[in-house]
Amino acid sequence: MKLEERLNDVRSRISAAEQQGGRPKGSVQLVAVSKTFDADAIRPALQAGQRVFGENRIQESQGKWPELKSETSGIELHLIGPLQSNKVAEAVALFDVIETVDREKIARALADEMKRKAKTPRLYVQVNTGLEPQKAGIAPDDTAEFVAFCRDQLGLAIEGLMCIPPVEENPGPHFALLARLAKACGVEKLSMGMSGDYETAIAFGATSVRVGSAIFGTR
Ligand SMILES: *Cc1c(COP(=O)(O)O)cnc(C)c1O
Repeated sequence: MKLEERLNDVRSRISAAEQQGGRPKGSVQLVAVSKTFDADAIRPALQAGQRVFGENRIQESQGKWPELKSETSGIELHLIGPLQSNKVAEAVALFDVIETVDREKIARALADEMKRKAKTPRLYVQVNTGLEPQKAGIAPDDTAEFVAFCRDQLGLAIEGLMCIPPVEENPGPHFALLARLAKACGVEKLSMGMSGDYETAIAFGATSVRVGSAIFGTR
């Protein structure tokens, strides 16, 4: 299958899941995860009208997205991988949405840099719903306090929550937990669901899904 066909297949599955869940048509945003793929592999997705992309590494993104952004207007780039403090300036410069705010130090660095650059990428807090030691993210029990800290102490508007459920587990309970936490924190957006489970995530209220291999092929 060509990329355009895979992309259209994902789009129609998203539409069907929206309809099945009684969600408004077009309410779920598709974030096409292009990590490991170079500019030439990404251009067909741009030609097919896709404008929202996710990347997990800053350095890799700097090697392709400035060029692609200069060729095509309306691109929205999401950082979905871990952010280190020494990369915060670069992240704020390149990304439109940062989905991986996961500790006070990073939140402070982001607040400082956003003031300095007068640029305000939209922010999500990553939640470690499975409490996995090797995975980034705020613990579920600490999420409300962290979101309030970002808002009240740093003046950062947190737009949503993001999670990556444990690979071996049924993702449904993790999606349900993230939805409950978002409601408790008063944040609207839920970034959850990947190639294997995005339809399930939509059933649990995802407002954006991060789909890589189902569009670009295996990495
Ligand atoms: C790679 C990645 C995805 C996409 O995964 P696929 O299974 O290829 O769809 C989604 N979210 C994050 C955080 C990722 O790192």
